[in-house]
Amino acid sequence: MNIAMFASEALPLSKTGGLADVVYSLSKELSKDKANEVVIFTPYYQNAKISAFPKMKDLGEIAVDLSWRHLHAHFWEGRSGRLRYVLIENAYYFHRPALYGYHDDCERFAFFGNAALAALRFLHFSPDILHVHDWQTGMIPCLLKEKEEYRNDPLFAHTKTVLTIHNPAFKGFIDRYFLADFWGLPDSLYDNGQVRFDNMVSTLKAGIVYADKITTVSPSHRNELLSPDSDQRLNGVLALRKDDFEGILNGIDVEEWNPSSDPFIAKTYTAKTWKEGKKANQKALLSTFGLKKGKGPVFAMISRLSWQKGVDLLLESIPPFLQTNNEGTLFILGSGEYALERRVQALRDAYPERVGVYLGYQNALSHQIYAGADFFLMPSLFEPCGISQMIAQRYGTLPIVRYTGGLRDTVDGYDGDITKYADGIGFRDYDVGGLTYGISKANELYHKPLEYAKIVGNALRKDNSWKKSAAAYLRLYEAAIKEE
Ligand code: ADP
Repeated sequence: MNIAMFASEALPLSKTGGLADVVYSLSKELSKDKANEVVIFTPYYQNAKISAFPKMKDLGEIAVDLSWRHLHAHFWEGRSGRLRYVLIENAYYFHRPALYGYHDDCERFAFFGNAALAALRFLHFSPDILHVHDWQTGMIPCLLKEKEEYRNDPLFAHTKTVLTIHNPAFKGFIDRYFLADFWGLPDSLYDNGQVRFDNMVSTLKAGIVYADKITTVSPSHRNELLSPDSDQRLNGVLALRKDDFEGILNGIDVEEWNPSSDPFIAKTYTAKTWKEGKKANQKALLSTFGLKKGKGPVFAMISRLSWQKGVDLLLESIPPFLQTNNEGTLFILGSGEYALERRVQALRDAYPERVGVYLGYQNALSHQIYAGADFFLMPSLFEPCGISQMIAQRYGTLPIVRYTGGLRDTVDGYDGDITKYADGIGFRDYDVGGLTYGISKANELYHKPLEYAKIVGNALRKDNSWKKSAAAYLRLYEAAIKEE
C-alpha cells in the first residue's frame, strides 16, 4: 500500500507535541512491512534537525501556486531505513524560529498542503492512503474532492483520505474570504455549511466532513468528542460521521523505553527479575536526592506542571501519605506554570525528608524515576491519550490515574479484590477525594505482597507497542480502500 503522511511536524525533524511522535512512530512501524511504501511530507523549518539525515538528497524546485500567489517549493529527501521523508522548503513561510504562532499560520499551511500535493505529482507517487493530521492539513480531503484538477488527476483516482485529530482545541479558523484566496474554492462551501464553524471557515471541520475516515488518539476520547457535553463543540459534525470515526490508542517506543536494556538506569530488569531490579533502582534514586526509604511506597509524577495534569490535586492529597504512619516518598520531575512550581517547592520544604523535586526537563532522570518508583501519579483533568502511564507500566510502576480519555483505555484499575487483569489504579472524580481514594488503594496494595506482585507482573507484560496501534490503523486503511 502507498501511504502519504501530510504532517506539520514529525520526529526526528521537528516536535512541539504528540503529533510529531505519532507521525514518526506510526510511519516507522508501517514501513517495516515491505508491502507498504510510506512517505512523510513535512515542512523544512529553520530549526529542523536535519543532522538525522546525513545523506539528504536535493530533489529539485518547482513552482507552486496559492491561488494568485506564484511561489516556489524546494523538495529534499531524507531516509530512515525504509521510511522516506520529503521536506518542503520555502524560506518565506518556514525559515522562522518557531513552528507555529504567526499571524499567517493559515496561509503557511495552505501553502504546505498545496506544495505537498504538488510533491506527490512531482514524484509520481500515487497514494492509496493520504493521511492528514489536525487543522494544518485538514483542508486536503476537501481539495481532493472539490477541485477538478485533483478529481480528474489519475494520480489520485484511488486515493482515500484519513484525518487524525490529535488536538481538537485548534480548529484552523479563517475568514471565508480565504476559501477562494488560498485554495480557489467556491464560496458555496461556506454557505452550505460544509466548512463553516460559527461564522468562520474551520479547516479541522472541513477535514471531518470530507475525509473518508477519521480517527482520534483513544476510544474514550472519541466518545468524549461525540458527547453533547464536549467543550470542543465538534460533536454535531462528528455525529454525522460516527460510523467512519474511530479511536486508536497511541503506542510507546518500546525500544527507547525498555527496562531490560535501558542505559540510563542503575540496574536493568525483566518481568522475572523486577523485584531486585526495581529495588536497586529505587536505592539509587533515593540516594540521588539524598533521601531514605520510608515504610510506605515511592510515588512519582513526571509531567508538564500544568493545570490540566491535576498537580494541585496531588499537592492537597499526598501529605497524609508522607506522614509518620504511612511514610511514603514522593518524587516530582516537571516544569511549567510558575505558581505550580512554587507550590511543588513548598511541599518539598514542608517534607524535606520525604519529597524529592527537580524542576526542569531531564530525560535521563525520567528513566531513573520510571524504574525506581512504585507508583506513578497521573490525576489528569483530561488526557486524549497520554503516554507516561504506558511507560510507567512498562517499568512495572503502577499508574494511579483518573479515568479520563486514554487513561481510561490503558489502565485497568485494582479495586480492592480483583487482581486478575488489573495493571494500575483508577479513580473517577476529579477532586481531592478521588485522588485520595486512588493513593490509599495504592498504599493498601503495596502492603499485600502477593496481589501487588501479580499486578506489577500484569503491567510489565502489557503490550503498549506501536505494533498493535499500527495494525489498527492498517485495518482502517484497508476498510477505507475497500469502500466505494
Ligand atoms: P503531554 O504530551 O500532555 O505532556 P504525555 O503523557 O502524552 O503528556 O507525554 C509526556 C512525555 O513527556 C512523557 O514521555 C514524559 O516522560 C515526558 N516528560 C514530561 N515532563 C518531563 C520532564 N520534566 N522531564 C523529562 N521528561 C518529561
